Parts: sequence; C-alpha cells; structure tokens
Amino acid sequence: MDCRYDDLSSNERCRKCNKTFPIIWEAPNYLWEKITENFEGNILCPSCFDEMAAKQGISLLWVCQEFPPNKPLNPTSDTSAG
Ligand SMILES: [Zn+2]
Repeated sequence: MDCRYDDLSSNERCRKCNKTFPIIWEAPNYLWEKITENFEGNILCPSCFDEMAAKQGISLLWVCQEFPPNKPLNPTSDTSAG
C-alpha cells in the first residue's frame, strides 16, 4: 500500500492548492493512479483529491480509522451472538 503519512512531523502542502492540511490520509494505489494520472505531484489534500475524482465522475467514500492502522478497515467476521 502506498504511504502518504511517512513524515508526520511536518504538515505537507498540497501540490494543487498549495495549502497545508492537518489530515493524515491515504488512497488505494489504483485509485490514486486513476484519479491523478495527469497530475504531477505526489501530495494532495483530501479536498483536491475529491474534486479531481468528481471531475472524472468518480464518487469517493471517505472513512475514518485509528492511526496507526492496526486493524483491517472492515473486519470480515464480527458475528458475536448477543
Ligand atoms: Zn489541495
């Protein structure tokens, strides 16, 4: 998986809108490549990424999880009887 939070000590600056963003996030490689194919720069803020996706007719679902990730996002079995 591609890592976009390897330097948490400094706020990254979006290569598109040039704003810093305090949100740690990542996208699956295939999605990143698909959406940013004509864009030079490896750092985007969530807003710009979402906007670029929308321009291609791609809707994104943003989810939230604990960092560092220590569990799969969608556990396959959580069927405790109760
Ligand atoms: Zn941006």
